[in-house]
Amino acid sequence: MTTAFHNPLPIPVLGFCAYSGTGKTTLLLKLIPELNRRGLKLAVIKHAHHNFDVDVPGKDSYELRKAGARQMLVASHVRWALMTEDPRDSDPELTHLLKQIEADKVDIVLVEGFKKLALPKVELHRAAHGKPFIHTEDPNILAVACCDDTILPGDTPRLDINNVSNIADFVENHIRNWRPACPALPLAPSCGCEADMSKTLSVRQGIDAILERVRPVTETEFAALDELDGRVLSKDAISPVDVPQQTNSAMDGFAFRFSDPMPESLSIVGSSFAGHGFDGTVGAGEAVRIMTGAPLPAGADSVQPREMADDKGDSVSLQGKLTIGQHVRLAGEDIAEGAVALPGASRINAAAAGLLASLGFDKVKVNRRPRVAVFSTGDEVSAPGEPLKPSCIYDSNRFTIKAMAKRLGCEVIDLGIIEDSEASLMAALQDGASRADVVISSGGVSVGDADYIKTALAKLGQIGFWRINMRPGRPLAFGEIDKALFFGLPGNPVAVMVSFLQFVQPALRKLAGEKDYAPKFIPAIADEPLRSRSGRTEFFRGIYRLGDDGRLHVKTTGAQGSGMLSSMVKGNCLIVIGEPDEQLAAGSTVYIQPFADLL
Ligand code: AMP
Ligand code: MG
Repeated sequence: MTTAFHNPLPIPVLGFCAYSGTGKTTLLLKLIPELNRRGLKLAVIKHAHHNFDVDVPGKDSYELRKAGARQMLVASHVRWALMTEDPRDSDPELTHLLKQIEADKVDIVLVEGFKKLALPKVELHRAAHGKPFIHTEDPNILAVACCDDTILPGDTPRLDINNVSNIADFVENHIRNWRPACPALPLAPSCGCEADMSKTLSVRQGIDAILERVRPVTETEFAALDELDGRVLSKDAISPVDVPQQTNSAMDGFAFRFSDPMPESLSIVGSSFAGHGFDGTVGAGEAVRIMTGAPLPAGADSVQPREMADDKGDSVSLQGKLTIGQHVRLAGEDIAEGAVALPGASRINAAAAGLLASLGFDKVKVNRRPRVAVFSTGDEVSAPGEPLKPSCIYDSNRFTIKAMAKRLGCEVIDLGIIEDSEASLMAALQDGASRADVVISSGGVSVGDADYIKTALAKLGQIGFWRINMRPGRPLAFGEIDKALFFGLPGNPVAVMVSFLQFVQPALRKLAGEKDYAPKFIPAIADEPLRSRSGRTEFFRGIYRLGDDGRLHVKTTGAQGSGMLSSMVKGNCLIVIGEPDEQLAAGSTVYIQPFADLL
């Protein structure tokens, strides 16, 4: 039986429950760094035994508390801790504890213990412990992490307890799909609450609200091997063959039949070259000269490299320690016949195209390319190639947007530069929406902007004008015109690229049918101090490199003006300073988003 539980926070809470000794903390110690690596910020609540204390006698904070302070808050410039004396006969109340968490600073709260509460949980189970299942009694268990050979009663989804990334995938999905009782996000009319179209949002809220609106394309087509780069595979590619097809040698040397002990010398009875095997059978005391990739002859089970063999022409003696099966590649060891060679919804790159070719596919079924219509707005914006009029600028946004969309495998429709008039803009928007899945414009969405795009949009579709707490790239318009999605990016060229990377990129990936569309973050060490404003996500253009210490280091490209496209050219990543951070000293760990693959 479980006790009722109410999550008071705007973020998900996920429990991990198990009988003691299953290794809850050990698993969390591995899971937390993996989730951090994926850019997720976590809070953890742990139920401890009744007499625990975090402080030590003799410390001022300890003595002050023991002197009678009911609450003791101790703080330094790196951390603070609030200790509260709250003696009670029963367990502490999780709802009360959760209210102490700074929910704006983390993405999820992981809870260890509190097994009896009706909160969403993952059960950890090791059959070897001989303990009963918990999920059979508790409907709040969303998944059971157990060993491969454990048979689960019922159909609760299973996770691999020995595979941290499998469990991290589950947590990531849980965060992505989780919604509070009535979402505080705009454009979510499913909750019945009024969608607020002019809101200040965090980057994360913006991404979530956008992704919720994206429906992957469903049409598919066959594409030949040469046309596969950047396409998204429609369904799992199942291998029709074993790779390698035959058991073969990984080295140039001698194939032999292992025994213990081995004869001093083996007589050489033939040779096996790649493409032409040895027809006979290798017996005890015999060897066959063999080349890398050549089929292993019948009777042989091991290969000795040439460098470790004394070749006397008719016979050979093998040197050093030998083990059975050494230097042999088994048939099907890379990919077995019938196995999933490439999962559906994956984006095909050079390696994946090579893999499909190696299985003999000459064409595969891929999703239709998303169609993207692009235009620029603004009377000051001139087409490159034409003379530049006074106080005008050349249009760069259309070209950065088109190039990035093409890198994401989209078909691009260029609608040109649209003059600042309501009629022209409405015509362009309608034209784009009738021919494309996504319409992207730049400029004219700033607060106080006198441009006509806002009035045109208001007449055509359901568009939200958002202020995103980010720099560069604060204004963003998003919504739908007929069946097409619309993105109104800001005007400044760097803001356009940064907004594209954060908001348009995951949307186009999801639209294309890709499974892994969430933005990826990698930790790196900042080689210079970085200053940001609290409550705003800051995207610096950075250059990352591998340091002498074997870790990734990053520094900024220098001046960071939102019109300075040269900073995007010099850089190879964005340095992402999250909303809570203000001042980061050199040597701090920051998260970066490499972008070289898209620009
Ligand atoms: P807006 O939001 O329309 O006021 O534009 C903000 C800034 O971006 C202005 O300095 C514009 O001149 C500039 N801008 C707008 N569109 C483009 C474009 N297509 N290419 C380059 N710069 C642009
Ligand atoms: Mg403008």
